[in-house]
Amino acid sequence: MTDSSPDSRDPITQLIHHPYQPPAGFQAPQPGVHKASTVIFADTAAMRKRDWRGRSGYTYGLHGTPTTFTLEERLCQLEGGLQCLLVPSGLAALATVALGLLSQGDEILIPDNAYGPNKALAEDELARWGISHQWYDPLDPSDLAARIGKRTRLVWLEAPGSVTMEFPDLPALTAICREHGVISALDNTWGAGLAFKPFDFGQGWGVDISAQALTKYPSGGGDVLMGSIITRDEALHLRLKGTHMRLGLGVGANDVESVLRSLPSIALRYQAHDVAARSLAQWLQAQPAVAQVLHPALAQSPGHAQWQALCGAQGQVAQAAGLFSIVVHERYSAAQVDAFCDALRLFKLGYSWGGPISLVVPYHLPSMRSRPQPHLHAGTVVRFSIGLEAVQDLQADLAQALALHLSDR
Ligand SMILES: *Cc1c(COP(=O)(O)O)cnc(C)c1O
Repeated sequence: MTDSSPDSRDPITQLIHHPYQPPAGFQAPQPGVHKASTVIFADTAAMRKRDWRGRSGYTYGLHGTPTTFTLEERLCQLEGGLQCLLVPSGLAALATVALGLLSQGDEILIPDNAYGPNKALAEDELARWGISHQWYDPLDPSDLAARIGKRTRLVWLEAPGSVTMEFPDLPALTAICREHGVISALDNTWGAGLAFKPFDFGQGWGVDISAQALTKYPSGGGDVLMGSIITRDEALHLRLKGTHMRLGLGVGANDVESVLRSLPSIALRYQAHDVAARSLAQWLQAQPAVAQVLHPALAQSPGHAQWQALCGAQGQVAQAAGLFSIVVHERYSAAQVDAFCDALRLFKLGYSWGGPISLVVPYHLPSMRSRPQPHLHAGTVVRFSIGLEAVQDLQADLAQALALHLSDR
């Protein structure tokens, strides 16, 4: 690994000036794309000596190539981790963590506002294997503390929450996990290693595991599915790596190449998404049809102070990605909100985020939460992912669709 070098440069600079060594005689900084199922050994002794767990050599395409090792190292630099596993999707990263760490009789705790498929994994897969779950209130650390019991093995964290964008007190939640000796795993797709450092909340500690959907900002193109699992503990990594190996999880070299090509521009893209999203969120806040805007950088948004404290730590400008939601005033029906979404022209109806195209999804929130949400206004929730289009064009698109379907005039 390269992160042990005393390098004080910004992680973005480090991942661009990565100590990748091109083949002799070919001095290009762009890494090559290596494809293999089979790796040839010099002799039987070399074959027996090579261990798939280690990174000093190669055993088989599924267990690593120069291309996957390069992406793993760069993602470690970005997030401040030491070990990385690549998996075929963000959801596969969440599933691999659960399957690697949980056994029959164990319990997993997941925030009530977590990425929906992570909750479905617990309800529909883990439950069948005798692993129970509880949803905790991410805005109330004492609720997490009260739910941790003898059988609790794993606590998921997500910042901010899916769709409703509440920013939790990550240092407080992680401290509770540490006190109880329970592994904390963060879905860091939103932060992407840029908004805050998942392994160092300022006091030199953070979460045990950071999982990311590379599908979103690291890819940036809306054309790759991939996930990562990053750790700072060799034993924890090897435990997950064993499960990763036995499940046969691999990633395609061309997909890895796409992410490697996108990574150097991640900070610029992230900032551009952020600036545009904040501008549109503020504009929407002034529109009469909008009862509430859920964006951690807005002062009235749930968890704003926690976002400011974590993402604005050490005087840095707090960043906030390109995602936010609105609650449409309850005087409008869900059908009117659907018509508003259908009337948008630049915003396309689609899941995911982090790509160049702006996306919109209306949600039926009550079916997604286990408890009342007193911090949210009544009405229909619409989530926006802001792409890289000119912000005045996006605002004009929102204005025309609001005038058509969410206006009293
Ligand atoms: C998209 C997403 C995932 C899953 O990623 P896929 O690559 O689409 O499977 C997980 N968590 C969050 C927060 C996401 O936004």
